[in-house]
Amino acid sequence: FGSELDGKVAIVTGASSGIGEATAEALASRGASVVVAARREDELEELQAGIESEGGDALVVPTDITNDDDIDALVDATLDEYGRIDILVNNAGIMPLSHIADVDRDTLQTTIDVNLSGLVKLTHAVVPTMLEQESGHVVNLSSVVGRFLMENASHYNATKAGVKMFGDSLRLDVAAEGIRVATIEPGSVATELPESIADEEIKEQIEELGESMRPLQPDDIARTIAFVVSQPPHVDINEVLVRPTDQV
Ligand code: NDP
Repeated sequence: FGSELDGKVAIVTGASSGIGEATAEALASRGASVVVAARREDELEELQAGIESEGGDALVVPTDITNDDDIDALVDATLDEYGRIDILVNNAGIMPLSHIADVDRDTLQTTIDVNLSGLVKLTHAVVPTMLEQESGHVVNLSSVVGRFLMENASHYNATKAGVKMFGDSLRLDVAAEGIRVATIEPGSVATELPESIADEEIKEQIEELGESMRPLQPDDIARTIAFVVSQPPHVDINEVLVRPTDQV
């Protein structure tokens, strides 16, 4: 295990699979203590066991990011265990793609709640600790679709553009206190994300898109995030767009 993040404490949301899981492993392997949050506790415990078997440190905090009490409990558990929060990776997300005419209102609401409201609320809960520390790093998962549009995704695209705008605006308020904010914009990554698509035709299109190229793997984004948070305090990488070489 490396040492560039020794002594750092990182919260990673959506750590039960995909990019979040790989990011927790990448940060732990560089010396950070990682607090892994998501709803699926079994997956988090498996991740914790893997990290600990390699000599790393992880704390499992089952969290539904749409629940305000869970958000507070995640911050409290982190502070109780470690007394600080250096890195927040806001990664939890869902992508229930649909034509706007076919999507039900609950799905619209949940997409906004998970991808945007949960991210904003958790950041709001963590920032006071970072301000007190006069340091901290917030890393938000937006998407290539926050910049280049994809059809049948108006609600999803809106959340990802919102994440980018939230991060850039947050930075204006907190940069002077030593807090860094980064927006990560992955292209196509091979994960479970398309499983939340109920529309079979759209799901197939997304799967075909993935098969038409060599997609990114979760660890490709995890390495990007590890690079971003391993910079010296005066270096703030604000935005990174990472696409598969084949994705145009
Ligand atoms: P996964 O489906 O593998 O991971 C999504 C994670 O979000 C899971 O750990 C899931 O955990 C968690 N999650 C979902 N709902 C909630 C909730 N209510 N509360 C807490 N956690 C929740 O997909 P990815 O790894 O691909 O996605 C990670 C991020 O990357 C997302 O924000 C996604 O939008 C973004 N992204 C992904 C791209 C891709 O091509 N894969 C491209 C661009 C961006 P659980 O179900 O256990 O709660």
